[in-house]
Amino acid sequence: SSPPDAPQRVLLKLSGEVFGGGQIGLDPDVVRGIAEQIAAATRAGVQIAVVVGGGNFFRGAELQERGMDRTRADYMGMLGTVMNCLALQDFLEKEGIDTRVQTAITMGQVAEPYIPRRAMRHLEKGRVVIFGAGAGMPFFSTDTVSAQRALEIKCDIVLYAKNGVDGVYTADPKKDPGATKLDSLTFAEALAQNLRIVDAAAFSLCMDNELPMRVFGMEGAGNISQALQGEKIGTLVSA
Ligand code: UDP
Repeated sequence: SSPPDAPQRVLLKLSGEVFGGGQIGLDPDVVRGIAEQIAAATRAGVQIAVVVGGGNFFRGAELQERGMDRTRADYMGMLGTVMNCLALQDFLEKEGIDTRVQTAITMGQVAEPYIPRRAMRHLEKGRVVIFGAGAGMPFFSTDTVSAQRALEIKCDIVLYAKNGVDGVYTADPKKDPGATKLDSLTFAEALAQNLRIVDAAAFSLCMDNELPMRVFGMEGAGNISQALQGEKIGTLVSA
């Protein structure tokens, strides 16, 4: 049974890096494992929307450093996220979960366009909605899009599944051995202590609209499923 304060509708942000299993491209075993966890939470009654990153294919800023035009590189980054979406959709459907992919760049053969009201209907019907192509706009990140989509389709919380870190620390744990993990903190505290949790645009969207965010590590069996079902793993940042 789920805890009494379990969220009804959540937005899960998965970084693309994880999908690659540490390499460029897709590791189907990793995606299958993530899909199993999302499926379990869906069966438990949580309405789940997912934003998938694309760092396992391309990051616009990195291609820019290698000489590419930033906006074209960002579009490549966004297209990469769609491949991750299709892989996640496939493994979710193999789990028997109904899904829809909605993309911010129209590509009718593989996905619906992003239509927020339709996305909410899908969620009400128990379908997992997977958002691809970020915001459809260069210079944005999928972290920021996650906050925006969560607000627009009225999620109770945005869950940031991180790779290599399991929450918010008092200082960078890689640099400061005395850093300790925080269970919860307010947006104001995070700002005052200059703690970088998500990018600045994502952070201010959550803070300005009092949308709680939970940051947790996706390593460890069942972490994603636990976070989706309202368990207090990682760090909660709220108003
Ligand atoms: N991107 C973009 N606009 C968006 C979302 C993503 O231009 O709204 C591009 C950007 O180049 C980014 C890449 O897509 O580097 C992959 O997304 P992101 O870096 O957020 O993925 P993650 O690091 O979470 O895997």
